[in-house]
This record gives sequence, C-alpha cells and structure tokens, in this order.
Amino acid sequence: MKRTVLLYLMIAGLIVSSCKSPGNKENEELVSLEGRTMGTELNVQYIDSLKRDFSKEVDSVLIEVNNSMSTYIPNSLISIFNKMDTAGTLEVDRHFYQVLLIAKEIHRESHGAFNPALYPLIHYWGFSGGTAPDEIDSSKVDSLLKICNFDLIHGTMAISGEGDTSYYVTKDDGRAQLDFGAIAKGYGVDAVHDLLRSRGIASLMVDIGGEVRCSGVYTDGKAWRIGIEDPIKSTVNSKKAMQVIALENKAIATSGNYRNFRIINGQKMVHTINPASGYPELNSLLSVSIVTEDCTHADAYATSCMVLGLEGARELISKNPDIEGMLIYGIEEGELEYWSSPGFKEITLKD
Ligand code: ADP
Ligand code: MG
Repeated sequence: MKRTVLLYLMIAGLIVSSCKSPGNKENEELVSLEGRTMGTELNVQYIDSLKRDFSKEVDSVLIEVNNSMSTYIPNSLISIFNKMDTAGTLEVDRHFYQVLLIAKEIHRESHGAFNPALYPLIHYWGFSGGTAPDEIDSSKVDSLLKICNFDLIHGTMAISGEGDTSYYVTKDDGRAQLDFGAIAKGYGVDAVHDLLRSRGIASLMVDIGGEVRCSGVYTDGKAWRIGIEDPIKSTVNSKKAMQVIALENKAIATSGNYRNFRIINGQKMVHTINPASGYPELNSLLSVSIVTEDCTHADAYATSCMVLGLEGARELISKNPDIEGMLIYGIEEGELEYWSSPGFKEITLKD
C-alpha cells in the first residue's frame, strides 16, 4: 500500500528543493527532498544551517539497496538468488545480510507469520511482479507452500585475515526464493536516515511510501508530527489522518490491506499472505502501525501483525516492550474501531 502514513507537516518541494521559505527564520534551515523509489514516494526533510544538498548521496544509497533487494530488478542480488535453481551459496552485500538477519529474528518472534521465503506464493497470487491466476488452483498452492520454508535459507559472514567482511546467503533447495517486500522499504528508510546522521544532520525525517523514521525535532523545537491515514475516508489523492503522533528518535511503519489487492473470481485477494495456509489473509484488521527504534523492524512487525489478526497482533505488541502499535479494525460494514498500546497512546496527539 502506498503512503499509509501522511506527513502532517508536509512541505512540498521538487526532487531537491532548497526549501521554500515560509517566512519563519527556523524554517529557512529546512531542506526538503522529494522523489520516487521502491515503486512509491520518497520524502526527506532535514534541518541544516548550511542547506547542503545530499540528494546524490541519498539516490546512490537507495540505488544500492534496490540493486541488492528489489525483485523488480532482474539482476539484483535477490533476483540472482531467486534464479539459482539448485542448492548453493551466493555472495551478497551488507544490506542483504542485515535484512536477512532481522527477518530471521522477526520470523521467530512472530512464530512464522513473517516469512520472506513466501516469494513463490506471493508471485502466484499476483504480487511482486507476478500475474494473478484466473482460477485458484488449491493443489498448486499446497505444493508451493511446501517450498516456502525460511529454514531452507541461511546467512553467513566471514572476516578475512585483512579484516574485510564478506556476506553470503545459502539455499538448501533450489526452489527456495526470497521476497523482502515487507521489510526492504523500512530498511531503505534506515539507510537514508543513517547516511544523513553520518553527515552531521541531527534533525531529520525520512519517509518512503509511509514508512517513516525521525531524529531530533522539527523547526519549531517540537517532535516531528506524523499522521496515520484513515483507511476508509482516505483516497489515493486525498489523504485523511485518523490520528497524529509525535515521533522523536523513532520509526513508524504501517501495513494495510485496503489498497493493494487483486480480485480473483470475484474474491478480494490481499497482498498479505498467511504462511500457515498459503492463502491471502483477510481478517478484521484494516491497518497496523508499529512504532519502534528503527524502520526495518517496524516494517516487518507491521506485516507480521496483519497476518496474525487482531488478537495475535495485540499479543505480539503487548509482549515486546520495544514496540508500540495501533490497530485499526472493522466491526461492521464501514465502521472502524481502533486499539492502541499504552506507549502509543502517550505519543498520540489527537483522537
Ligand atoms: P506495504 O507494501 O503496504 O508496506 P507490507 O509492508 O505489509 O505492505 O508488505 C506487503 C508485501 O510483503 C507483500 O506485497 C509481499 O511482497 C510481502 N508479504 C506478503 N505476506 C508476507 C508474509 N507473511 N511475510 C513476509 N512478507 C510478506
Ligand atoms: Mg511495509
């Protein structure tokens, strides 16, 4: 889904605009970069008295991440890995390895609900570049499900005598394939965030398609304010915020099923696949927003919760002291209810 989270304090610009001056001295130091990446919108804002233009560096780090993990790029590392049709090992980069490690951690914590080895099924259902079938073939779903086993894929790291680090990913079965669609956007946000921090920027906000990470504070000295989209009232062209939160040195990611789906035989098939059944998971949850330290984790937890459903998601969020969340769910046709964890309530600005 695109732009699940709205920027409450959005300042429109060009690909790189030396910021518009809203007539306020503090805002004169705000730089805004806009563009597209990972099939969605990119928006970066930062405060820099020198108003430096980091657009080229932002671009190149995102190109690196895409060349590593985009299944839409035929010669990306993930595509090469997916095309290996026998068991074997591929040398990958640091981005791939880090995402694989975090994916393993969240796969365990979500009891398998988060499973990036679902690529064959995700493709079957018409997502990540696949074409949806006209008719559902349940024996095909069952046979694909058997190879969507994340335990068949392992990451390793080696340090040479000179201190150089190499990263590898291995598949035990040639049919095992990866899809980082539920985690790579969050990682892209973290990569841009870390780049800007390393350039001495203390206050910044990075948003890729609604996955957001903030550091420091906005020009008014207050936390960055982020709006969470209302899944019913919002449209692609007219966003309505359901809640606004104050985000300080944290990330937020939102997953939802209300925009990205296919219709097969009159049935709504959403882009969240349940690894237990192999089928798209449609439950009462319309959207899940997760707040945590970094956006890679937030992104993957949000998808995990969509798979787990209302009760499972509430349990996952409540058990882990490092994550806070808000769940929006439908009770009756057109009627919404929401649940927020106590820490999420603390940062919510308006109901
Ligand atoms: P969005 O793209 O709106 O941020 P998500 O972060 O929830 O949405 O990612 C959805 C994508 O994740 C799907 O399009 C698919 O590529 C992948 N995916 C679907 N089901 C799962 C799952 N159970 N575990 C991991 N990845 C999944
Ligand atoms: Mg996501």
